[in-house]
Amino acid sequence: MAELVQQYLDRIRAEQIDTRDGALANYIPELANVDPEGFGLSLSSSDGYVYESGDAALEFTIQSISKPFTYALALDLIGQDAVDARIGVEPSGEAFNEISVDDVTKTPKNPMINAGAIAAVSLVPGAGPDEQFDRIHDFYSACAGRRLEIDMDVYDSEKATGNRNRAIAYMLASFGVLDGDPDDVLDVYFRQCSVKVTSTDLARMAATLARGGLNPLTGRRVIDAHVVRRTLSVMVTCGMYDATGDWVSAVGMPAKSGVGGGIVAVLPGQLGIGVYSPRLDARGNSVRGVQVCRNLSSQLGLHFLSVTRESSSTLRAVFDAGPGIRVYEVQGDLLFAGAEQVLRTADHDRGRYDVAVLDVTRVDDINDAARGMLTGMRANLTAAGKEAYLVDPDGRVVPADRHDDYDAIVFRTLDEAVNAALRRCAG
Ligand code: GLU
Repeated sequence: MAELVQQYLDRIRAEQIDTRDGALANYIPELANVDPEGFGLSLSSSDGYVYESGDAALEFTIQSISKPFTYALALDLIGQDAVDARIGVEPSGEAFNEISVDDVTKTPKNPMINAGAIAAVSLVPGAGPDEQFDRIHDFYSACAGRRLEIDMDVYDSEKATGNRNRAIAYMLASFGVLDGDPDDVLDVYFRQCSVKVTSTDLARMAATLARGGLNPLTGRRVIDAHVVRRTLSVMVTCGMYDATGDWVSAVGMPAKSGVGGGIVAVLPGQLGIGVYSPRLDARGNSVRGVQVCRNLSSQLGLHFLSVTRESSSTLRAVFDAGPGIRVYEVQGDLLFAGAEQVLRTADHDRGRYDVAVLDVTRVDDINDAARGMLTGMRANLTAAGKEAYLVDPDGRVVPADRHDDYDAIVFRTLDEAVNAALRRCAG
C-alpha cells in the first residue's frame, strides 16, 4: 500500500520537473547562490509516517515559513489577548515587506507579513535576544522532531542587506508595538529566517499542526490546540503572499511559503506537506511548489472545503422494532450537523412512536456539541409524553459513571433496549 502513495508523489513531482519558470530570490544575495534545480516533496500522515520524493533531504532556509511558528509560540507563551493587542489577523493586500501598519490600530495587519512577524518575535519572552532565539529555535526543532541548524551565510547576508526590515522595526518601535530594542528584535528575526529545514522537516512541522500541536513522530505535545487553530486560520487568510485567494481556491489548505523556496501546507486532522523548489513566481511563491500542491490537492481530494458525506450518512438506518418503538441507528463521526439531523428526524416522527431508541454503537467519535444535543433529546421527549432510550455500549454519548447526571436510560445492546421498550409499551 505504501508504494501506491509513493508512486503518486513521485508522479506528481515528476510532472513538474521540467518546469523552469520563475527566478531565485536575490534581494538577500546569498539566496541567489542555491542550486535552482533542487526539488523535494514530503508528505507526513497524521500518525507520523513520512513519504519522500526527490531532494527531500536537501536543506534550505525556512525564511517566512518561520512566521506562523513564531506567532504560534507567542500565542502559547503570552496568550491570545496580549498578542492580539499588537498584531491583527486581517489580510493586508500589500507586499510582505510593506512598511505599514493598520490605519486605525497602528499595529501590523497580520503576522504573515514582515511587520507582524517582527512584532511576534518581540513578544516571545526572554531575557535577551539569545534567550528569545533559543526558545524559537527549540520550538521549531520540537515541531520538526530533530535539532535544526542555522545557515550563517544567509543570516550574515540578510543582516547586511536588511534595511527594509530595519525600517519596519523602527517604525513599529515608534508606534510602541515592539518590546525591546529594534536591532535586537531584528537579530532574532534574521536568525529565525536562516534556520535550515528540508521538505521532510516542513512536512513534520505541518503534521504537528495537523495534529493540533502534538508531534506525531515524538509523541510530544509542543503547543496547545486552540493556538494551532488560530495559527491555521491566519495561514488560510494570509499565508501565500498576494496569491492567498488563488491558493485557497485551488489548493484549499492552510499554508505558508517563504522566499527560500519552501512551502508548508496543513490538512487539519489528516496530513502535513512540505515542498521545496527555489524558483519563485512574481508573488514570491515557489513555482513548482504551488503546482505540486495544486495537483496533490486535486488528484488526492485534499481541499479542506470539500463537502464530505458526514451529514448525509449520519443516520445509518431508521426502523420500527415493534409497535410504538422506533430505532435510530447513528454512525460515523457525530458533530453538530449530524446530531441536528438525528434530533430533527426523531422530532418529525414523534407521532409514530412511544419509545425512540437511539443506537450509537457505530459512532466513532462525538464532540461536545453533539453529545449535549443527544443527551437533551430525552428531556424533550419525556416532556411530550414519550420516552428515549440510548444504546451506548462504549459510553460515547454518556460515560458509564455519568448516567444519573444525564438523566439517561442506557443499554448495552439494541436487543436489551427493544425488550425494555416492549415491556414499557405493554405495561
Ligand atoms: N527573511 C526574509 C525577509 O524578511 C523573509 C521573507 C520571506 O520569506 O517572505 O525579507
